[in-house]
Amino acid sequence: MTALRIEIDHGLCGGASECVRAQPELFELNQEGRASLRRVPGDHERDACLAAAWACPTSAIRVFEGDEELDPYPG
Ligand code: SF4
Repeated sequence: MTALRIEIDHGLCGGASECVRAQPELFELNQEGRASLRRVPGDHERDACLAAAWACPTSAIRVFEGDEELDPYPG
């Protein structure tokens, strides 16, 4: 399995919390009201990471599997 990695662009994050509502085990808001990761996602949480990226209204969340960026908007 290739490790999952999430990047959150705090310049894009508006603090709308959709990611927190969608995946509260993975995301929280920091003291500045921006999304941050609660922990490193496990390999089995690929769908959860993509669901959070999909839910973000500003596309601030990017999901990578190794060097490959995954598309949260398939089709
Ligand atoms: S859904 Fe997007 S804009 Fe909203 S808190 Fe999460 S990363 Fe930030």
